[in-house]
Amino acid sequence: MKVQHYINKDVWPRCREVTLRDGILHCSLANERTYVLTEAYRYDLHIRFANAKTDHDLTQFVRDWGPLDLSEKEKLDNTASIPLSDFRIFQRWLNAVLHLLAAFKGEAGDERTALREFVEAEYENERNFPAPLDEPLSWSILRQQFAVTGSIGDWVSGASMGEVRTATDSLLHLVVVLPASGELVFRRRRNRGEVEARWAIDNLKEALCWMVWYDEFTQHPIICCQECRKVFRGETAHARKYCSHECGHRATARKWQRRKREALRSSKRNQRRERK
Ligand SMILES: [Zn+2]
Repeated sequence: MKVQHYINKDVWPRCREVTLRDGILHCSLANERTYVLTEAYRYDLHIRFANAKTDHDLTQFVRDWGPLDLSEKEKLDNTASIPLSDFRIFQRWLNAVLHLLAAFKGEAGDERTALREFVEAEYENERNFPAPLDEPLSWSILRQQFAVTGSIGDWVSGASMGEVRTATDSLLHLVVVLPASGELVFRRRRNRGEVEARWAIDNLKEALCWMVWYDEFTQHPIICCQECRKVFRGETAHARKYCSHECGHRATARKWQRRKREALRSSKRNQRRERK
């Protein structure tokens, strides 16, 4: 599906320099090197961010694409100091959303694991807000819907598959992957007015969520590796299950080992039966 890409003026700064000291990323902003958030979709920023495993990867991401969010003061000062854990908490949440979407579609992973990972990421995300609720909204919803009194994570582990599916259905509606809205900007030029349709996206964090939505909108899905759970694009129309040859190989080797063990077990069983 070809989608018209609207002109967008929501720009975001990259970083001139990023250093990691005592768990804090110190960023000096390169306000002369900005980019348009929605146009960066073509570089799959959400996938890059989700897969930034090491501190070095994450520092590099922030250098190339800027911090996730900035206060007005930080924008004015051209610097920001952000705990690395802020990035990790949001990264874990974004990965949990991608995995839950993949599990819902039956593409990768089991739904129970994905749901458990998501509710845990929701809790951690809520705790990281400046004025957190006792527990995230998603937890309260599940409590009400299924009369859960203890830990929501434990409930997910013990729930029936039917309950897990119903819970996933309720929570997927709640996942805010599109906090942005469309807006029209009006400008007067000499004797005629100009209207520009654009996305109102305030920061990189919102843009990453918007990209998850845009994948679905353009039917340009992400694949979740069934072995290591890394997210990636399938390069061909032919659906791929694994992100790399190594993961494919590891999965095949494991299957082969399992088959060998089963064969051994059944031959022992037969020997025992023959002896009787
Ligand atoms: Zn993999």
